[in-house]
Amino acid sequence: MSFTLAIVGRPNVGKSTLFNRLVGKRLALVDDQPGVTRDLREGAARLGDLRFTVIDTAGLEDATDDSLQGRMRRLTERAVEMADASLFLIDGRAGITPNDELFAEILRRSGRPVILGVNKAEGRQGEAGVIEAYALGLGEPIALSAEHGEGMGELAVALAPLVEAAEEAVAVVEEAETDVDVEEDAEGE
Ligand code: GDP
Repeated sequence: MSFTLAIVGRPNVGKSTLFNRLVGKRLALVDDQPGVTRDLREGAARLGDLRFTVIDTAGLEDATDDSLQGRMRRLTERAVEMADASLFLIDGRAGITPNDELFAEILRRSGRPVILGVNKAEGRQGEAGVIEAYALGLGEPIALSAEHGEGMGELAVALAPLVEAAEEAVAVVEEAETDVDVEEDAEGE
């Protein structure tokens, strides 16, 4: 299993745009694959030298009533649980909304690594949003433009240690399993 990143955030912040940028034409739509639910998309992402799996919580409509908010929360919790880390996107032009606060709370409570991305920050448009985003208490925000491909280098820098840690953990497990196999073979003789 490769490192898995969940892109989460309220509707319309640019999650699908970023997913498509990371995944490109490869597996851009994999809803029909077995094991992938209708509401979550999964794809093979490439960012600089990094290779990982990305999950997008697509299929979220605007949460205008309580049931939709509940659905949004459940879907996000599921995606966060499936992933090694989450990329929480907010819209740098819109500023922080009550729904953003709801997501921030889910992520803080998950206790898992979170990268905070302030999207739609092309040019100087997202500066105020970036400053505002510090208040979410999720670390240093990264200014991004999913549509124009800005901030991708900074995103790669933030992701690299997480991807490497996950790969090292897999290597340790594989090594341990090989050791067990060798011991079992020796015992069998
Ligand atoms: P999602 O609902 O979070 O998946 O958001 P989408 O990816 O569907 O994007 C919502 C809208 O924001 C679309 O009209 C996108 O074209 C637009 N959008 C996405 N990323 C950017 C960006 O970096 N800059 C700007 N200005 N618009 C963006």
